[in-house]
Amino acid sequence: MPAAFPSVLIGSGRPLTLRGAGHSCGGQTVTGDELLVTYAPDTAANQVRDLGDGLIEVPAGMDWYGLERYLNRRGRAFPVLTDYLHMSVGGTLSVGGFGTNSVRYGMQVDHVERIQLIDGMGASRWCSRTDHPELFRFALGGLGTVGLIERAVLRTVPYQRYTHVHRTRHASLTELVEHTERIAQRDDVDIYCASLRGGMLSSTTGWGGISAQRCSNENCSIVPDLPFAEHTGRAAATPSDKVRLWTDYVVPAAQFAPMLAAAEALLHRAPLNRVLTMLYILIVRRPAAATPFAFAPVGTDPVSIGLGLYTSVERDPAAIAATRHMFRDLLERCCELGGHPYLYGVNDLDDSLAERLYGTDLDQLAQLRSSHRLEHVNAHLPLVKATVRTRD
Ligand SMILES: Cc1cc2nc3c(=O)[nH]c(=O)nc-3n(C[C@H](O)[C@H](O)[C@H](O)COP(=O)(O)OP(=O)(O)OC[C@H]3O[C@@H](n4cnc5c(N)ncnc54)[C@H](O)[C@@H]3O)c2cc1C
Repeated sequence: MPAAFPSVLIGSGRPLTLRGAGHSCGGQTVTGDELLVTYAPDTAANQVRDLGDGLIEVPAGMDWYGLERYLNRRGRAFPVLTDYLHMSVGGTLSVGGFGTNSVRYGMQVDHVERIQLIDGMGASRWCSRTDHPELFRFALGGLGTVGLIERAVLRTVPYQRYTHVHRTRHASLTELVEHTERIAQRDDVDIYCASLRGGMLSSTTGWGGISAQRCSNENCSIVPDLPFAEHTGRAAATPSDKVRLWTDYVVPAAQFAPMLAAAEALLHRAPLNRVLTMLYILIVRRPAAATPFAFAPVGTDPVSIGLGLYTSVERDPAAIAATRHMFRDLLERCCELGGHPYLYGVNDLDDSLAERLYGTDLDQLAQLRSSHRLEHVNAHLPLVKATVRTRD
């Protein structure tokens, strides 16, 4: 149930775990302590404020579905949407957020003007690139480690109802890699994703608006309201005898081929051959002068490529351990290639790996948590434990 007075709860100093819709996959919002839940899509819509100039102020507990419908009715849209929209604004901003439009617009957090953040004493402050810039840099993509995002001011773009979508089948992973690399080098594409699902390799490329001249192929279509129509097939619910173990790695575009090769080497071997439901690929082009968020999955490279592995594993400790072990090897490879894990997923981050990935940002996280009295908030996260163990 959503917390009525989040600042009072946080300010009480009792151990707390922050939660939006609870869709992260690595136990981030699972706790024996108290949960502070912000997700309240039904009531949040009344609290949206249009600030003019394309800026919109949104409560963190709103879902993207409601927000996008609200915006579209007013001729606006949010530039980057996830493939499943019933997740909280605060929860996805706390992990990064990317989707098919990331090839054009980067991450969701790249379109945040400012956030209202509640610290460990219950005090609230607005943070942006210029006001409390370090809190801004650590909160977005930061898993709630530097406080609760209560509201966010987002930059929107004009709404285009139609998208021209071009779907391509690929004969091999090698062909898919080459195709993805070619698209990553172009800057005229608005939508891109690719997947391996049910043995089929395919990609989707799209352009906003109705541009007939591109429609020379039978696999083209004009799709209205693509964010509401297009689903990768990733289900939010999991059968009760299975657990959802999902992970995504994001590497600089030039390192995508070796990253995919590492995954390909495991595709026909246990446990991946039994548990993989989908392999998913997105291109992420960051805007110029993007903020170097401390823990977001996409680094400072102008163009990166994300590789997601989504598995559905029997509730059997050995099967779960085998899958996590394989993920751990892939995470090592991602790290060697200069990439980052997407922290909403399953990532067994030990202290040394956290150190390699985040370096001095871990020191700064420790300082921010201490100076804003946040020791009792989200203390169970491996990222936080790494700061405690390696800095004490
Ligand atoms: C079906 C499905 C499809 C998905 N598709 C995509 C996709 O296309 N692209 C993509 O980028 N991701 C995708 N994801 C991952 C998703 O973005 C993350 O799981 C995200 O965290 C979900 O938001 P949530 O509200 O459920 O967050 P939660 O899981 O509740 O929280 C995530 C983290 O943020 C913290 N947190 C939550 N709310 C706040 C807040 N208000 N202030 C500070 N910290 C907070 C929590 O403590 C936790 O550490 C998908 C997940 C699912 C289940």
